[in-house]
Amino acid sequence: MANSQTHIAENLARIHEEIRQACRAANRDEADVALMAVSKFHPVEALVEAYGAGQRLFGENRVQEMQQKFPTVGALAGIDLHLIGPLQSNKSAKAAEIFHAIDTVDSLKLAERLSSAAAALGRTLPILIEVKLSHEESKHGLAPEELPALLDAIAPLPNLTLSGLMTVPPWSEDAETARPYFQHLRRLLDESQKTHATMTQLSIGMSNDFHVAIEEGSTCIRIGTAIFGKRVPAAV
Ligand SMILES: *Cc1c(COP(=O)(O)O)cnc(C)c1O
Repeated sequence: MANSQTHIAENLARIHEEIRQACRAANRDEADVALMAVSKFHPVEALVEAYGAGQRLFGENRVQEMQQKFPTVGALAGIDLHLIGPLQSNKSAKAAEIFHAIDTVDSLKLAERLSSAAAALGRTLPILIEVKLSHEESKHGLAPEELPALLDAIAPLPNLTLSGLMTVPPWSEDAETARPYFQHLRRLLDESQKTHATMTQLSIGMSNDFHVAIEEGSTCIRIGTAIFGKRVPAAV
């Protein structure tokens, strides 16, 4: 473990330096770009190592996987666990219990269930709306045309806070391919903010394109591979 520990800490330090450079180039304040460590398919030891290196914000894709890791990491001081994978309504109560925020809300039904679950726990849950901007079958999220109506319907729910938007563009070797998707989401956020002032977060950018995402206004980059190495299975 000693060896991989060094790698995770080194990788985090390197990415922080790259964030600094990207922010400087984009004339942005580094404090406005959060680094989320995406730990899906990596053992809980990897999260603990990253935590030891100062990382607090983590993203996981599956409720069940987080349930397995939660007994080890759930009580760590200051840890901030976000769900960044698709959520079925029937798992919303469990999700509200083990995550601090849900970044992939895409329906009113899911939002209502999350709000009820958060109410039962005496909590308010920050959420992002996941918007689907590409036409790929495999991608999740709400069609952009449906966003204004969903925001208006969610806003009155008592135990949710509408924090912002998230998207996953089509994967490409070339980071520039993602830029128009990032710009589109940014426009949607600016528009949403006019009527829903709590919407300030723009969750865009992954290992291969976060420099571009920072140029386009990302407030949270979601980095897996560049911190933890390749996933097994690598395709997900
Ligand atoms: C896996 C995943 C990431 C991290 O991807 P990397 O390319 O490994 O950095 C980010 N966001 C979401 C939604 C993911 O599923």
